[in-house]
Amino acid sequence: MSQTPEHLKSTAALPKVVRAKGSYLWDAEGRQYIDGSGGPAVYALGHANDEVNAAVMAQLGAIAHGYRYNFTTDALEELTEIIRGHCGGGLREMVYVTGGSEAVESCLKIALQYQTAIGQKTRRRFISRQRSWHGNTLGALGLSGFAERTAAYEGAFIPSIKLSPANDYRPIAGEGSLGERCAAELEAAILAAGPETIAAFVFEPVVGAAGGCVPAPEGYAKRVREICDRYGVLMIADEVMCGAGRTGTWRALAHDGVEPDLMSVAKGLAAGYLPLGAAICTIKVWEAIRAVDGAFGTGHTFTGHTAACAAGVAVQQIIAREGLLARVAANGPRLMAAWREALAGVEAVGDIRGRGHFIAAELVANRDTKAPFDAERKLFMKIRAQAMENGLICYPVGGNVDGARGDIVILAPPYNASQAELDEIIDKAATSIKQVLRAESLG
Ligand code: PLP
Repeated sequence: MSQTPEHLKSTAALPKVVRAKGSYLWDAEGRQYIDGSGGPAVYALGHANDEVNAAVMAQLGAIAHGYRYNFTTDALEELTEIIRGHCGGGLREMVYVTGGSEAVESCLKIALQYQTAIGQKTRRRFISRQRSWHGNTLGALGLSGFAERTAAYEGAFIPSIKLSPANDYRPIAGEGSLGERCAAELEAAILAAGPETIAAFVFEPVVGAAGGCVPAPEGYAKRVREICDRYGVLMIADEVMCGAGRTGTWRALAHDGVEPDLMSVAKGLAAGYLPLGAAICTIKVWEAIRAVDGAFGTGHTFTGHTAACAAGVAVQQIIAREGLLARVAANGPRLMAAWREALAGVEAVGDIRGRGHFIAAELVANRDTKAPFDAERKLFMKIRAQAMENGLICYPVGGNVDGARGDIVILAPPYNASQAELDEIIDKAATSIKQVLRAESLG
């Protein structure tokens, strides 16, 4: 049986994109698409932004890349100050990388380096959760709870423990609030494995592709913070998808009033203009490493790539100048209300959730039991194709229920999409879902 994940199978017949501006893209046939998901929640400012492009061109004209062992650069230093300002608190040190997987991978390595530096070298294992996605490099992939994408590589991963997803729509059983129950599961796993073996707990504050914009249950993150502190386990927030303002606060976890020890950020950082990510850690983590090793052990040839940092600076400056974080935060409830209204009466819509410009609908075969549709139907793939047909880019994903079954449709519009564009995105997404359900005789 083929182990190729569904989302990779359909690339043969893709249209060829030739041009884009703002929230719109055009293919070689002249067909127009509105970008309802910023690709995979990346293009925070839409496409072909003149100011970002000019900043990148100016940087390329001066120097493309000042190699990290030889030089620092204005772009790198400016971006570092911007990120420090956004993170606040102790999150002040960082390693730049080229994307989300490298950012997560770097967080894992910094956590291990820290535990070694403080004399805790037995702490080599990680805890993560089912229905999570942390990236495609072996370390990040091994921590991901996304069966369809991990199956081919099982047996070759670093050891990790996978907890239940923390999802209000699909709660785990037990006493107390859902946040308490899920956090108790973490504590039990740490105790069962032996706290002296656990380096860090890794989780997405708002689960993206693997769950469909699932915010943490009330109180969960705070309890997790306490438990991590109690047992010397580092807390790693993977904010590759939900961070950099996507949910209305620069750090998604700021919503929960919690500071992690480490945090990965990528997609929205340079908003797709150039590949860029960062692994950010607190002063506490950095100081322990500095005292023993003097420097982070992890890094790559393109760490702190100057043109990529210049893109990041320009993107972040525009976001700040145009008040886009506040706009995304304010748009959130309105977008959810419009999404709800557009899908009202569609029996197969089991849940609508998310925050800011990061919202999703989950489709179910039975609203009472929340049973998903058969995986063979590949509803999410059909919705993606129908949406493209209707001139909409959205982000449908499968497998959110058990790794194989489950259909979600994610919307993640640019932060600066106009009200008319947001309306168009909601309208086309709802229409596409309804058309597919009708064609499948499901609605
Ligand atoms: N972490 C999360 C939460 C993600 O959503 C992704 C990508 O979708 C990654 C990590 C991996 O990022 P990349 O695809 O840039 O390597």
